[in-house]
Amino acid sequence: MRSFLICLGLLSILNGKSQSIDYTLRMGAPHTHYLEVEMVVSKLSGKTLDVKMPVWAPGSYMVREFARNVDFFEATADGKKLPWKKTDKNTWSIATNGSKEIRINYNVYAFEMSVRTSFLDDSHGYINGTSVFMYVKDKKNLSGKLTIEPHKNFKSISTGLTYISNQNGKFQYSFPDYDFLADCPIEIGNQEIFSFNASGIEHEVAMYGEGNYDKERLKQDMAKVVESCTKVFGENPNQKYVFIIHNLTVGSGGLEHLNSTTLQVNRWTYSGSAYTDFLSLVAHEYFHLWNVKRIRADVLGPFDYDKENYSTLLWVLEGFTSYYDELLLLRSGFHTQSEYLSVLSRIINTVENTPGAKIQSASESSFDAWIKGYRTNENSVNSQISYYTKGQLLGALLDIEIIQATNGSKRLDDLLSYLYQEFYKKQKRGFSDVEFRKAAEKIAGKELKIFFEEYVEKTTAIDYEKYFAPLGMTLKKTSREKEIAFGARLTDSGGKLIVKEVTKGTSSYESGLNVNDEIISCNGFRVDQTSFNKMIAASKIGDEIDLLISRDNIMQALKIKLLPNGAWDHQVTVLQSTGENQEKLRMKWLGN
Ligand SMILES: [Zn+2]
Repeated sequence: MRSFLICLGLLSILNGKSQSIDYTLRMGAPHTHYLEVEMVVSKLSGKTLDVKMPVWAPGSYMVREFARNVDFFEATADGKKLPWKKTDKNTWSIATNGSKEIRINYNVYAFEMSVRTSFLDDSHGYINGTSVFMYVKDKKNLSGKLTIEPHKNFKSISTGLTYISNQNGKFQYSFPDYDFLADCPIEIGNQEIFSFNASGIEHEVAMYGEGNYDKERLKQDMAKVVESCTKVFGENPNQKYVFIIHNLTVGSGGLEHLNSTTLQVNRWTYSGSAYTDFLSLVAHEYFHLWNVKRIRADVLGPFDYDKENYSTLLWVLEGFTSYYDELLLLRSGFHTQSEYLSVLSRIINTVENTPGAKIQSASESSFDAWIKGYRTNENSVNSQISYYTKGQLLGALLDIEIIQATNGSKRLDDLLSYLYQEFYKKQKRGFSDVEFRKAAEKIAGKELKIFFEEYVEKTTAIDYEKYFAPLGMTLKKTSREKEIAFGARLTDSGGKLIVKEVTKGTSSYESGLNVNDEIISCNGFRVDQTSFNKMIAASKIGDEIDLLISRDNIMQALKIKLLPNGAWDHQVTVLQSTGENQEKLRMKWLGN
């Protein structure tokens, strides 16, 4: 689909007849954090021209209102200013007065250092398209050019946009349509750039910020991850891929794009278990170049940048990607089998011990990402389950179910490859949730009623033995009833011990401790976090403790009865003696 669009784009530039749109990006004073954008729209007709700023960044399902960072706007034709007015929060309507070509200039304040926003200071600029580039209403299909004039102290640019030329420090790129422009983040500065080849594709790594990374080791290890991702699908749709990596003091997360990704990590992440976490992030974002960017829900592309785009399938798009980001580390030798099973056991613990998992299903969690997943509050633990976590578990279950149903001839890889070939390549579109289920049932060769209707759409308890026993495995459960479940998350806030979260079914919840309460004393002793934890640890189940709390500055006595912990520890375990077929199926799941 992408190469098809590029052909169209080049054609329109070459024949000179179609309308196009050109942008110039400048950054004259990086310390002010202002990006200066110029947009030239040609071959206009009509009396008005509406330009719009997206409200969200694809891949990050929250309305962020990028228009709030625009604070200068001007439109001109032949050097004369044109009248304009805002008609809603993110639309500027320009009276064109019959002009055929209009120049629009605006400034964007860019000082939010995350993978889904833009940032500029005197060390670098990071552009995430939807937060910087406006588009012409109803004309997102326009192709064009982007010229970047970096600040004189910035020497390099890293992006997945199509490079045209560099003339006197003005870097020129082309794009086939707005979606592509918006989907190519841009790093501008003095980043360290190195590259490696994997799966026949050139990969550029752009490193912003100091860190304890070893370039040569990264080239080898990232190549292994790339190759294990590509192997799932049998082909890699890109010719070049760019990793933009921000090494920060505080940083976490990544955002997927068609032919690039941005990762933000702690600068000391490149050793020990943190390094494995880094490789898992690399695998996650790289896997997304298929799952999300090409294998996608029908409502997620072409995007509506004006409002929420609701999907019930984020448990597949994000959850399965999370499933593979760990599974592929097993396949490429970065996890042992027992390390991988520990990861899976932790996921099961989270799902089974989060009260919200009994309230919200995986499909509801997906649909409400915009108002819940991305906007968690103090009660989220009691009312929500992450579609990443539940989806990761569902990915493992569906994988095992397909393996069992086909006696090891197929697995989840085959479903994802089928979706890629059938919907992305053949039909050139996304799929509905009904089509996803049909595809899964086609690969499994049987109906998957319980999986979809009970485990995905409802919160029904999962029958783990049904999944694990045929693979010669079991889920060992250990009760934690001998522990006290105090159940409140506390923080030290300027010397005050403050309640931040209270989990349903625990001592704190049942006895009426509230979020924002300040715990002043316990059994007559003034407490801080350390002493309070020690007092709870020294208590017995069934004891009552007397708290003095301040709630909205009113002192109050509160008795808390200490209850047993209702949570369980889960461990996915391989049985000591297993049959030949059980071993065959298990190897299909956990082997390479
Ligand atoms: Zn993701």
